[in-house]
Amino acid sequence: MRVKKISHVAIASEDPDQAKLLYEDILGLNFTGSEAIEREGITTYFYEVGESNIEVLEALSKESPVGKFLIKRGAGIHHIALEVEDLDGYVVKLREAGITIMSEEPLPGAHGMRIIFIHPKSTGGVLIELSEKME
Ligand code: ZN
Repeated sequence: MRVKKISHVAIASEDPDQAKLLYEDILGLNFTGSEAIEREGITTYFYEVGESNIEVLEALSKESPVGKFLIKRGAGIHHIALEVEDLDGYVVKLREAGITIMSEEPLPGAHGMRIIFIHPKSTGGVLIELSEKME
């Protein structure tokens, strides 16, 4: 059980085109594609930063979690994702420590990963995603 790297920093955006202009055209990051995740009501846009990524999140509706986040807090950093080995081991460890996980079981995320989210109330205000490559 270990954390391998920061997988991505996710940014809730009101304007993915504006974000593309900044991250791709101006900063020169490599855009590696977008993916709609219907369950979460988002489209994700990935920009490579070395071993990690910036993940721009676009809400597909105001009722989606990211839509609500944008209304409540505005655009900005939404979550930080850590790629781990042995996600199930971490789920057990987090539960034992009384830390709130936002789903019963790991869920399928973008890029063929299984993911869980740790609630910000358990982390000092930061939504943290733990992810592991699906086998
Ligand atoms: Zn994420």
